Amino acid sequence: MDVVKHWIDNEAVDGGDRKGDVYNPATGEKTAQVVYASRGDVDRAVASAKKALESWGKASLAKRSRVLFAYRELVERNKETIAKMLTSEHGKVLSDAGGEVQRGLEVIEFACGISELAKGEFSENVSTEVDSYSIRQPVGVCAGITPFNFPAMVPMWMYPIAIACGNTFVLKPSEKDPSVTNYCAELLKQAGLPEGVLNIVHGDKVAVDALLEHPDVGAVSFVGSTPIAKYIYETGTKNGKRVQALGGAKNHMVVLPDADMDLAADAAVSAGYGSAGERCMAISVLVTVGDAADKLLPKIRERMAALKVGNGLDPASEMGPLVTKEHLSRVVSYVEKGVAEGAKLVADGRTLKVKGHEKGFFLGPCLFDDVRPEMSIYQDEIFGPVLSVVRVPTYADAVKLIHEHVFANGVAIFTNDGGAARKFQSDVQVGMVGVNVPIPVPMAYYSFGGWKKSLFGDLHIYGRDGVRFYTRNKVVIARWPDPKFRGVNLGFPQNH
Ligand code: NAD
Repeated sequence: MDVVKHWIDNEAVDGGDRKGDVYNPATGEKTAQVVYASRGDVDRAVASAKKALESWGKASLAKRSRVLFAYRELVERNKETIAKMLTSEHGKVLSDAGGEVQRGLEVIEFACGISELAKGEFSENVSTEVDSYSIRQPVGVCAGITPFNFPAMVPMWMYPIAIACGNTFVLKPSEKDPSVTNYCAELLKQAGLPEGVLNIVHGDKVAVDALLEHPDVGAVSFVGSTPIAKYIYETGTKNGKRVQALGGAKNHMVVLPDADMDLAADAAVSAGYGSAGERCMAISVLVTVGDAADKLLPKIRERMAALKVGNGLDPASEMGPLVTKEHLSRVVSYVEKGVAEGAKLVADGRTLKVKGHEKGFFLGPCLFDDVRPEMSIYQDEIFGPVLSVVRVPTYADAVKLIHEHVFANGVAIFTNDGGAARKFQSDVQVGMVGVNVPIPVPMAYYSFGGWKKSLFGDLHIYGRDGVRFYTRNKVVIARWPDPKFRGVNLGFPQNH
């Protein structure tokens, strides 16, 4: 059985005795084990990152960006291998896995432009013959803690920018699908990244707590569920670190009666069931306004009936399994709760059987109609292929519903009315908004982040906010002495 080890100083490193199991969710088979770090392992990774900082933090911009350019080429060349690897542990279909790698690659490409991005500002003659300028310097050793649902992309939201900015990085990936991060670290080694600049520790809360409490860690980026995001933010900031912690979501898609219903049905099915609903930007609530539901739902059901659920490695599959048996049980329990709470289950995925994959963690697409806001299937993030339809009479009711929810990650509106769409993008209190686009994930050169309980901290992740997060600003005021300015003056300096 393969053992996924830590990655320290550009080498795979054994941990202690604690290990977790890794599964292929399509077959239900245990495929590997992953080592769980002790505090000692984390200390070793942080010490290595601290040592590497001495030279990497001072390496020229040219050197840093050259490593990233080389890494970009290697990821591009090995895209398929990375995609297959993550499908085998996560379960998502290959085309989706390829898309994930592509979106990660775009952040690497953004980070290649660090020489332009990390420029400071300069003002000549802020006072006579006095200049002032700002410099952005690395924070130091940064840590990243990432979720299972994008095992390649979410770490790539973090470390390419962090290391481009001159930091060193310790990554704690999800223990559910850990292999892909080690593979990417090997590519970075091939790209010329010096040892210690990116270290990986695998494991659970023990590793996370050790990072949060470590005096040599300066910044922590987290992506995962809201309760853990809150914990990371509170614990990290209490220990004096800067923290950005992205949490969970319940993304609403509003459909106005004038929308293109075929477009809306395609979008709802793609964004509701893509990656088996295990996306933080998945659409999990469809808010139909007026009579939109009557026109939309038959089209959605038609598309759902044609969906092919199967092993993600089979190119014909459109939706794969859920990540673990435990997660499958959790999602099924929500379907049961929805029925018990009185929502109308119009498509029941629990009956699905995937031939030859009887032990896989599959659940077919589920659709609830007549969902009410007080129901747990509306309130909670289910993170599975379960789409809830809430019918409201007016646009104002739709916006009110969205505003009363605790999450505010992504949202979408489908309409042909430009005025309504414009009003919506301005009114809605959500971090990322799609207009006739169901999953509005910002490009690498914008930044990704929700509002309310979907993000703790202020700076969003990647893009320019990423550069701000991974650098500290320093302002210099400089005068090159001129004899005519000599003399003691105890007054507060005046500009002249
Ligand atoms: P999770 O919160 O369970 O785990 C995330 C990370 O935290 C993992 O590395 C895990 O090992 C660690 N962790 C788990 N429990 C911990 C604890 N008690 N103490 C310290 N560390 C702990 O999330 P997940 O199940 O891996 O991922 C799914 C969640 O991530 C969903 O809620 C989804 O919405 C969210 N997510 C959010 C975004 C975003 O950008 N906002 C993106 C992707 C996923």
